[in-house]
Amino acid sequence: MWEKVASLVAEMGGQLVQNSKVVKIETQDKKITAVVAKNQVTGEETRYEGDYFISTMPVKELIEAMNAQIPDTVREVSSGLIYRDFITVGLLLSKLKLPDITDNWIYIQEPEVKVGRLQIFNNWSPFMVKDPNTVWVGLEYFCNEKDELWELSESDMKAMAIRELSDIGIIFKEDVLDSVVIKMPKTYPAYFGTYDRFGELKSYVDQFSNLFLVGRNGMHKYNNQDHSMLTAIEAVRNIRTNVSGKENIWAINAEQEYHEEK
Ligand SMILES: Cc1cc2nc3c(=O)[nH]c(=O)nc-3n(C[C@H](O)[C@H](O)[C@H](O)COP(=O)(O)OP(=O)(O)OC[C@H]3O[C@@H](n4cnc5c(N)ncnc54)[C@H](O)[C@@H]3O)c2cc1C
Repeated sequence: MWEKVASLVAEMGGQLVQNSKVVKIETQDKKITAVVAKNQVTGEETRYEGDYFISTMPVKELIEAMNAQIPDTVREVSSGLIYRDFITVGLLLSKLKLPDITDNWIYIQEPEVKVGRLQIFNNWSPFMVKDPNTVWVGLEYFCNEKDELWELSESDMKAMAIRELSDIGIIFKEDVLDSVVIKMPKTYPAYFGTYDRFGELKSYVDQFSNLFLVGRNGMHKYNNQDHSMLTAIEAVRNIRTNVSGKENIWAINAEQEYHEEK
């Protein structure tokens, strides 16, 4: 879907710069004037000026990159934001030991294993699996970047995944045909750390009239894809209709945020 969107942007004359990381954000009088992006392949830095800036970079990194007189309290909130990270191990199997599972997500409660949740991709849609006579399962490990689990080698991670699913009776070890390990930093923006003071950070960044924070880590909010797209749509609407406030963007998924609280 996003490849299609990218081609539509190009057709309309837009330029999509990829493999480039925004490393500096220049500001003047509570406006963003330009960003400097570093090409992740060549290391070359390029400066881009703009009228409006819509950001999906983690808000913590946005604050670190801004060359502005940021109040110490805002820096404190930003540096105290916490993320939960995630590793998924995909296993391709000739079959499941328990053949009648129709669920797509299964939370694993057994205390003797580290896997927290299991996805059975066939049960999302048969089109997610190339050969319908095989089964792709994804084991999900919730962790923190640089912790013991994060530092495990790919082969150790795969071996552990196979051992764990076999130990709790879901697969036979000998049915594994292929495997893959994907590490995903900043999977979950956490609602602890300095999150209870997030309003201080939000009030500060909202003063930059041409800056719009959208998405999941861009807003440090547990937004799913639909919410993330809605925040972007709302930001564009504000730009097009000259609305300077950002509250309508922050209001998206506010009830979900409430449900996440105890
Ligand atoms: C493991 C996992 C499972 C998920 N499952 C679901 C699901 O089942 N259903 C659902 O609806 N949602 C799911 N989500 C959430 C969904 O992926 C997000 O809500 C959505 O992708 C957020 O969109 P976004 O544009 O904010 O962020 P992203 O899709 O993460 O895009 C942010 C972009 O910003 C770029 N970026 C970051 N920093 C910089 C920088 N400094 N300079 C330049 N570019 C930068 C990144 O490279 C990335 O391309 C899942 C997320 C994860 C991680």
